[in-house]
Amino acid sequence: MNPLSITSRQKLGTLRNQSSQQTDQPWQQALASSIRTPAALLSALELTPEQLPALFDGGAKFPLRVPHSFVARMKKGAPDDPLLRQVLPLDVENDLTHGYFTDPVGDLHASKAPGLLHKYQGRALLITTAACAVHCRYCFRRHFPYQQQNAITNEWEEAVRYLEQASTVTEIILSGGDPLALSDQRLAVLIDRLAQIPHLRRLRIHTRLPIVIPARVTDSLITLLSDTRLNPVIVLHTNHPNEIDTTVQQAIKRLQAIPGITLLNQSVLLKGVNDESETLISLSETLFASGILPYYLHLLDKAQGSAHFNVPVEKAVKLLTEIHAQLPGYLVPRLAQEVAGAKGKTLITEKQ
Ligand SMILES: *Cc1c(COP(=O)(O)O)cnc(C)c1O
Ligand code: SF4
Repeated sequence: MNPLSITSRQKLGTLRNQSSQQTDQPWQQALASSIRTPAALLSALELTPEQLPALFDGGAKFPLRVPHSFVARMKKGAPDDPLLRQVLPLDVENDLTHGYFTDPVGDLHASKAPGLLHKYQGRALLITTAACAVHCRYCFRRHFPYQQQNAITNEWEEAVRYLEQASTVTEIILSGGDPLALSDQRLAVLIDRLAQIPHLRRLRIHTRLPIVIPARVTDSLITLLSDTRLNPVIVLHTNHPNEIDTTVQQAIKRLQAIPGITLLNQSVLLKGVNDESETLISLSETLFASGILPYYLHLLDKAQGSAHFNVPVEKAVKLLTEIHAQLPGYLVPRLAQEVAGAKGKTLITEKQ
């Protein structure tokens, strides 16, 4: 065991002691009190079902779920609100669409241990939990068999053993679900364990939680990410500039205090949400003003039930060309698509 892990073990002890005296954290209470029915959501936004396309409850596997902190950024009385559209289950989700699948990105073939996906050279992805703070209707993970592919059920041991052997892997990506749905105590145990693997250098966290519930950025999370020897990268998930209000900006500021942190953002290109160049430009500008660089703009993964969000690739390329003409290169996200079997995300470039 190296000295670093002894230090973090002592800190862990402190965290555990603190938590045993505490009830739920405010962010956990916000999660627990999330809106879970279309009726409650429409009522909070002063809308009636007649103002919207036909709705449903989202189904037992992927029910409507959105915390009040995110709903607070939606405009009241606006059926087309871009944040509302991301979370409101429409009846068309139940239509079977040709060319849409339940495992659109071939993840089930890339699983090397329960919850561990190793598809690309040098980095591996760990599914730490099935839980998310919000259920995004376009999400390709909606069909994922988390019961079998969830590293948490066996305390990550098999995944960690695989990583110990995989000496070319230098970056571990915590994904989900949303890894920040785990408590800081559980994250501390996991990160401490990963930091003991000598060839790992970077810890990347893919999360939407600091956007959806900014209170998730706790002091103990900051401590945890400041103290690990691994170089931290956080990839946030924001699709529209309205998602970033002052509470989010303050949370991002706290994340920036982590030494060596890199903050990036990925978005999904979504019809009716962000498929206009002005919106994408404003998103890049808003992210940058908060210290976040745009990383990926993903084409929709073709998951059954998400076809109503699809933006054709020709339109995506046109949008990319428009935003590139108006922004510095570092504010233009890479337009990317996940192709099953590819060695990395497939980049889609402008026509010359
Ligand atoms: C997207 C993804 C990654 C990360 O790819 P980057 O291009 O490095 O962001 C790694 N592993 C899996 C399985 C992925 O799906
Ligand atoms: S995995 Fe990400 S995109 Fe999918 S539902 Fe959870 S938070 Fe939303």
